Amino acid sequence: MSLAAQLRARIAQSGPMTLADYMAACLLDPAHGYYATRDPFGAGGDFITSPEISQMFGEMIGLCLAQTWLDQGSPAPFTLAEAGPGRGTLMADILRATRGVPGFLDAAQVHLIEASATLRAAQAERVPGAIWLDHVDQLPQQPLLFVANEFYDALPIRQFRRDGAGWREVVVGLQGDQLAFGVTDPAPLAALAHRIEDTKDGDLVEVCPALAPITAAISALIAAHGGAALMIDYGDWTSLGDTFQAVQAHRVTDPLANPGQADLTAHVDFAALAAAAAPAKHTRLTPQGVFLDRLGITQRAQALAAGLSGPALDAHVAAHRRLTHPADMGDHFKVIGIYPDGATPPPGLTA
Ligand code: SAH
Repeated sequence: MSLAAQLRARIAQSGPMTLADYMAACLLDPAHGYYATRDPFGAGGDFITSPEISQMFGEMIGLCLAQTWLDQGSPAPFTLAEAGPGRGTLMADILRATRGVPGFLDAAQVHLIEASATLRAAQAERVPGAIWLDHVDQLPQQPLLFVANEFYDALPIRQFRRDGAGWREVVVGLQGDQLAFGVTDPAPLAALAHRIEDTKDGDLVEVCPALAPITAAISALIAAHGGAALMIDYGDWTSLGDTFQAVQAHRVTDPLANPGQADLTAHVDFAALAAAAAPAKHTRLTPQGVFLDRLGITQRAQALAAGLSGPALDAHVAAHRRLTHPADMGDHFKVIGIYPDGATPPPGLTA
């Protein structure tokens, strides 16, 4: 039975489902889920991510993490972890870029947190010897250097529309025999009490239930043992408005049209992420382009350009622009860092 048919049967049986349940089924259902059944990255896939655009992205992240490790006294051993590593390209570039940092790779124990068996296999080709985990809760009790690029935006969200002093939840139900959005009756919601002040009637806010527990687990390790985390994603300081989106073959599509066959994402609520980082500290939210520039991506781009000509040079220049230019990923993507109280923020970010 197709995933669409399964979801229709489930809704007919037990009523409309939250967007979070819909997203979880579409992305991670073991038999039909989007990430569970394919490698969606790159030009021939559905979308392209920063590490797939240029090796320079992973090189800058690697040097940022290695400098953080040096600044904190070169703890050994430590965990070098990535959540949602996709094809494993970012971690492979981090490992390559940090080879010249004495002691770093000897002390690093590489852990990848990945839900998809298909993508775990792709990661194993590029990052041999890594340890795979289902959840950040399983990370060892030792210093942690952590990175996540476009991981949080894949975590299921719920949507609520303000109605007076209460909220109507956006749900996925049936209209005839087709999946269709609906809303619940308005009800007050303790989890959104703090949003009553900064929203008005009709406004839509998104809540990601997994964001706080995942961030708290990472931050607890960093607060207790040292290290740092870099989270890079679409989003802004607070969530306001509908950012639930489906992308298939580099095009925005109807999220209900082909369950399991389109990537589903929502913008990250960085204020909620920052709040969940306590008692560790968090940096300012910084545009990706500014972060990469401070780490020296332009100098690195020039050095690499010296060895290129013709179409390869054009592609390299375009990749640098795509990663850093404000009209492109440079501003749409943001970076936030988490680090221990008393330590300096990771290079490229400010307190
Ligand atoms: N970081 C990669 C891939 C981003 S796509 C890149 O930048 O190219 C999202 C990744 O998160 C995929 O690897 C997907 O399988 C994984 N993922 C999504 N939800 C997850 C979850 N709940 N737990 C672990 N991994 C998850």
